Amino acid sequence: MMQAGEIESALSDLVIANRILANENVVDAYGHVSIRHPRDPQRFFLARSLSPDRVERGDIMEFDLEGNPTGGDARQPYLERFIHAAAYAARADVQAVVHAHAEDVLPFGITAAPLRPVIHSGSFMGLHVPVWDIADRFGPDTNMLVTNMEQARDLARCLGPNNVALMRGHGFSAAARSLIEVVRMAVYIPRNARVQMNALRLGREIRPLHDGEIAARDLGYKPYSLETRRAWRYWAHKAGCAHLVEEQPVDHVHKPWGSE
Ligand SMILES: [Zn+2]
Repeated sequence: MMQAGEIESALSDLVIANRILANENVVDAYGHVSIRHPRDPQRFFLARSLSPDRVERGDIMEFDLEGNPTGGDARQPYLERFIHAAAYAARADVQAVVHAHAEDVLPFGITAAPLRPVIHSGSFMGLHVPVWDIADRFGPDTNMLVTNMEQARDLARCLGPNNVALMRGHGFSAAARSLIEVVRMAVYIPRNARVQMNALRLGREIRPLHDGEIAARDLGYKPYSLETRRAWRYWAHKAGCAHLVEEQPVDHVHKPWGSE
């Protein structure tokens, strides 16, 4: 019973995450968010091919780390589900993944200007944000999308130990230790990009956060603290799904995924 409750709670949070990312304009008809299975690290949960603003509990599918649906689920999955599979396969610490096409980050994937954390809430993307170019390994004539495991593994290699990778002319992928953390990061990455772009219009020199400041931010961040939950509830309320948050027992939502 405990196990079923934990999984249902994780799936409910995944529905909320879909609605938040849609409402905050991080995703539109495209883009997706997933979580690793709380009890089986070789599996993850991701919605069927559907706009994130429409995702409900019944739309969530289970996949293995090759991107195959489990249990004979024949519904249409997202074409780019491999991004998630390869991120979980490459990094045991990753519990949640977002892939999105947010317009504000795109200039930093097609120029030499690196995306840097320039605002306090952008610190969680980390000091280094690598850019993955699908043309480097897969030639000049791909359709730009990550449509198989080979491409997805190459993207995961580019991500390495970092939290975010930009994808040239396409978008970004973000990986984190919890669902709340990846949603928070995905919400603030485009805002950070917007501020950086505006700052570059004002002058050539920008002053990004330096490594000591980023480390201090990381040290103070607790993904299940009251302060973090405040943002989660705020976004969920704005997205019209506060009722899903409030149905959960408070003592459960403070626990990290996979803990007893
Ligand atoms: Zn994409």
